[in-house]
Amino acid sequence: TERNREGYAPLYNSFEQFFSRYLYRRVRHCFNRPICSTPAAEVTIKERYTDDYNWTFKFTGTERRCINLGSYNYLGFAEPTGPCADAAAEAVRRYGLALASPRAELGSCALHKELEETTARFLGVEAAIVVGMGFATNSLGLPGLLGPGTLALSDENNHASLILGLRLARAAVRVFRHNDLRHLEQLARAAIAERRWTNIVIVLEGVYSMEGSIVPLQGVVALKKRLGLQLYLDEAHSVGALGAHARGVTDHCGVEPGDVDVLMGTFTKSFGAAGGYIAGSAKLIKWIRAHGHAHTYAHAMSPPVAAQVLAAMRALRTPAGLRRVRTLRDNTHYFRRRLREMGVVTYGHGDSPVVPMLVYTFSNMAAVVERLTARGIATVGVGFPATPLYKARLRFCLSAAHSREQLDACLAAIQEVVDELGLQYSRRR
Ligand code: PMP
Repeated sequence: TERNREGYAPLYNSFEQFFSRYLYRRVRHCFNRPICSTPAAEVTIKERYTDDYNWTFKFTGTERRCINLGSYNYLGFAEPTGPCADAAAEAVRRYGLALASPRAELGSCALHKELEETTARFLGVEAAIVVGMGFATNSLGLPGLLGPGTLALSDENNHASLILGLRLARAAVRVFRHNDLRHLEQLARAAIAERRWTNIVIVLEGVYSMEGSIVPLQGVVALKKRLGLQLYLDEAHSVGALGAHARGVTDHCGVEPGDVDVLMGTFTKSFGAAGGYIAGSAKLIKWIRAHGHAHTYAHAMSPPVAAQVLAAMRALRTPAGLRRVRTLRDNTHYFRRRLREMGVVTYGHGDSPVVPMLVYTFSNMAAVVERLTARGIATVGVGFPATPLYKARLRFCLSAAHSREQLDACLAAIQEVVDELGLQYSRRR
């Protein structure tokens, strides 16, 4: 490890060095690719090259228009024109881009109040609070709710913002195997027998962003009711994208929203905006407003962002809006089926708009991303440490905005690359 003259190590640690020297360097051209358009069904990517191994990138002047399978624009609300874009533009004119203050000071405007009321109504619960950043909704919200006397039972695939929030809360954490209700129950019963926890809370997600899996929520709710536990559910990838009313995984699994103690979600995916919310009982939201650091110490949600989400939620109350949810589901089913027919390994459940395709190694991941970009398809590759070392994958995000022609074009390109690299696990059916 590097040390200075006094023997102190640098602020980045040796894992970071290992990662950047041996793994990331060879695949880094897949990451941080700048885009120069809205992240809609098509996106413009700035192509680039690098001329040495010292992290210096040079950008070529070329811009490539690609079909976008990488952004979380599930319902197509990230489009540059239409009612959402108009509402956001109007909000900039009226309130400006930012309010120069946290919510608790001079940073609350009418749009925040309206969005909180609308979010609560949309989800079917008493109240909601909105936060300028989705990541901070978890990482600053959890420490406001849990303390050292809490035991959190946390899914092994939980997002980094949940893990950080639990650490900041100084809660004890026990990890259960992904979506494994038997293991969860085992851990819960053992913890109850210890008789030393102020409360025990299950922390999990609706749709897992690396796996494309959906939580078996009915089973979780039955378990938590049977054992008297609490439930914190992150709906970042499920709200808007799942359920006949677009309300997320509660809607999808037929669970009463009131049976989940804390409903958390983000506006970064299905709503084409930014920020997050926590929703639940009026008492819970009052508590978070007072004890969550985001409300008091972090800048308020930007007004045009709030206006965009409001417009999207309004749209989701109309038949045309809800059609987007059905189109997303149809696109997802179609895409999954065609990938399966190609003979590649995909992960996740049918309705999940996140469709991971296994490419096994880092080098395959880089090669597939590059070859697809060259064919006009923008994708995101994920690998270690976000996945196990030999389970690198491409994570396709489907959208209601994709036309069948666009999906067919993507599938044809994927087929070519899969054939070139031999990524099938079985002969094509
Ligand atoms: N929770 C989950 C499950 C996520 O996947 C993400 C980010 N993709 C976040 C929280 C953080 O949200 P944001 O990107 O809106 O900050």
